[in-house]
Amino acid sequence: MRRVLILGGTAEARALAAELSGGSSGGSSGRGVHVVSSLAGRVSNPRLPVGEVREGGFGGADGLAAWLAAERIDALVDATHPFAARMTASAAEASARTGVPLLVLRRPGWREGPGDAWQRVPSLPAAAARLFETAAQSSGGAVRVFLTTGRRSLPVFTGLAGVWLLARSVDPPEPPVPDHVHVLLDRGPYTVEGERALIREHRLDVLVTKDSGGPMTTAKLVAARELGLPVIMVDRPPLPAGVRLVETATEAAAWAQG
Ligand code: NAP
Repeated sequence: MRRVLILGGTAEARALAAELSGGSSGGSSGRGVHVVSSLAGRVSNPRLPVGEVREGGFGGADGLAAWLAAERIDALVDATHPFAARMTASAAEASARTGVPLLVLRRPGWREGPGDAWQRVPSLPAAAARLFETAAQSSGGAVRVFLTTGRRSLPVFTGLAGVWLLARSVDPPEPPVPDHVHVLLDRGPYTVEGERALIREHRLDVLVTKDSGGPMTTAKLVAARELGLPVIMVDRPPLPAGVRLVETATEAAAWAQG
């Protein structure tokens, strides 16, 4: 039976595991394929895919290459989050070294539409620099920021003069959390009404987010458009050169079945 490793932690990875396992919530073997899903193990109480799951890092590209060989993996699908660049780089390197074919499954990025006021920036530090400039030009009180870039990015944004942060994340950030940061723990999916209410309640001036794509977290962008809130959108890191890319779990399932 063909053995497929899915690098996961996303809704697309769960959809792919379900498709390859026969579309049910049953076991990990269906459609002539045995599926193992891998999670980083960072989130407490993660949403689990159907079938066999392993957790924790592999130990870089070397560790992943050894794991692929030991587990006799025939095909590798990197369905990690578009910003999980280290895992994707390891997957590309381990694939090149072992000859195990690699497919990258990435949901499409978001596109700016009529009524949106987005500023695209290449990185989290560039987003922080943009906020710093905005605060320096502001004549009123602190610039009030809706920050949805994840708890581990919080240190990039703390300590900017004239900036107050509403930081929303799935798990709490590492303490200590400074006074000018209000942490909101939530994991979505979110509604436009809820996002609108949040923006109003906290009198937010600007949204800072990563171009994650997908439907689960678009409500904040719709609410921002409706309320005329500017958005600082952090671009995705580039993919390693030459990797094969698809955008849907169905395409990835067809490839993984060989
Ligand atoms: P990252 O910076 O690319 O990965 C850091 C290290 O975590 C990797 O080098 C690897 O350790 C381990 N790792 C990452 N994904 C793994 C997986 N699926 N299975 C086993 N080990 C994994 O990634 P990240 O941004 O920390 O994201 C971690 C996980 O959360 C990913 O699985 C991703 O899909 C999910 N996620 C990330 C975001 C985000 O905004 N970045 C959002 C939602 C979900 P070793 O080098 O030891 O192998």
